[in-house]
Amino acid sequence: RGVSIRYRTEVSAIDRSAGRVTGVRVGEQRIATDTLVPAGGAESNRLAQLAGVPLDGYPMRLEAMALEPMRPLIGPAVALLDRLCYMHQTARGEVVGGAEVAERPQNTLNADVPVMAATAKAYLEMFPQLGRARILRQWAGLVHISKDFGPLLGAHNALPGLFISAGWCYGHAGAPAAGEFLAKAIVKGVVDERMRPFAVDRFERNQAVVEPGIVLSHFE
Ligand SMILES: Cc1cc2nc3c(=O)[nH]c(=O)nc-3n(C[C@H](O)[C@H](O)[C@H](O)COP(=O)(O)OP(=O)(O)OC[C@H]3O[C@@H](n4cnc5c(N)ncnc54)[C@H](O)[C@@H]3O)c2cc1C
Repeated sequence: RGVSIRYRTEVSAIDRSAGRVTGVRVGEQRIATDTLVPAGGAESNRLAQLAGVPLDGYPMRLEAMALEPMRPLIGPAVALLDRLCYMHQTARGEVVGGAEVAERPQNTLNADVPVMAATAKAYLEMFPQLGRARILRQWAGLVHISKDFGPLLGAHNALPGLFISAGWCYGHAGAPAAGEFLAKAIVKGVVDERMRPFAVDRFERNQAVVEPGIVLSHFE
């Protein structure tokens, strides 16, 4: 039936009535709906507040670095769990990744030299051949992080009609499956077994997930 996409349009309020979602406000307009999926990334807690429900998570700043293209060197994606560093080589030959450092700045989205140096050091320890490569670009952004680093995915029990997609620190990797599972939950009312562990209320039930492949620290 098609979709309508509105760029640069802020959700300013979420309407609820008789204990369930009834609509969303975008600018001056109200859109009536009985199903809503706030997917606001780092703004997820604010959107949950608009809906009047709690959400376990917080915004976190990440930086990434891309090196100039080179001949194939790194086959699989590599994560150095002890150094909190990860990288992979793209089809264009760029080595792209990042490293976690506790001293990173919190109040800017500018690339940061200490983070750049820590990333370069971690890259070199693993692949000394990268010492000859130049840095192509370095950038920062905000993600939404849950207490166990797993996504927060599925119906929010406190408000029927509200489905959450948040807590994505590796959202590009998870998005295709998340979209399919959420659609199944909304349209068919079926919670896929692969989505169930990431339920939004899992912390209340002491059912945190273990994400062994995550290379992040809880630097808030
Ligand atoms: C430096 C860096 C490197 C990364 N590297 C990787 C990687 O290699 N692999 C990987 O899988 N992931 C990576 N990620 C994480 C990935 O970018 C996120 O997990 C992913 O973008 C999350 O998708 P999302 O749609 O949930 O949120 P976002 O992409 O953050 O999108 C949320 C959107 O909601 C909008 N929004 C917020 N509030 C409102 C509102 N009130 N009204 C309307 N719109 C609103 C925002 O403007 C934004 O466009 C990286 C992130 C960073 C910062």
